[in-house]
Amino acid sequence: MASLRIALIAHDRKKDDMVALAREFRDGLSRCAVCATGTTGGRLQREAGLQVECLLSGPLGGDLQIGARLAVGEVDAVIFLRDPMTPQPHEPDINALVRACDVHDVPCATNVASARRLLESLLRRPV
Ligand code: PGA
Repeated sequence: MASLRIALIAHDRKKDDMVALAREFRDGLSRCAVCATGTTGGRLQREAGLQVECLLSGPLGGDLQIGARLAVGEVDAVIFLRDPMTPQPHEPDINALVRACDVHDVPCATNVASARRLLESLLRRPV
């Protein structure tokens, strides 16, 4: 079975949460093809020991790269820990990525509780 392709993105104030999530689900995620925006990916490699394909940093186009992959069927799920309290310079890119998930019916979790539920169901081993 081909590995699941999962994209991970976290805004700055959510990166600690993403690292904690990646540690919690490290075994399952290590069986997936994981890509991430640049800074998030670097932290996941260093602090969670995950093998991650690092794309551009979000504000430099990383969200758009993930959206482009997703639009051609190359991403199966997105965990996008957004910071709802801080304006982001790349708000249009963020909206474009979330919209692309809706257009293409790709699961997208935008907070820790939904991310945990999504990962639990995606990474469940077949019985
Ligand atoms: P980063 O990008 O992982 O490079 O910080 C995330 C974002 O802000 O979209």
